[in-house]
Amino acid sequence: MIELETEILDCVDARNDQRSYNKHNGDGNFTVTGKPKSEEHKSKLRKWNLGRKMSIDARAKMSEVRTGKIHKLVICPHCGKEGGDNNMYRYHFEKCKTLGNL
Ligand SMILES: [Zn+2]
Repeated sequence: MIELETEILDCVDARNDQRSYNKHNGDGNFTVTGKPKSEEHKSKLRKWNLGRKMSIDARAKMSEVRTGKIHKLVICPHCGKEGGDNNMYRYHFEKCKTLGNL
């Protein structure tokens, strides 16, 4: 039965048909890359990932990928400190201590 469905989906090329709800041709290979996610989909993903524990191996891989990444240098207009854009936007600019808004 699954073979017949796969054959039919292949015939109509359901994977690439915009009108099709099937995002694969019965082979399980989904091709939804590049398609923007809806807000409903994003909230479901958020709910699924919230509080999810990652294995030590997975965390080590993520760390390895991010180690040595070169960040764009930016200068805070309030205190003049220079640093990588990731943490500078977190602690400086609108949130700079020299503004006295802490
Ligand atoms: Zn600053």
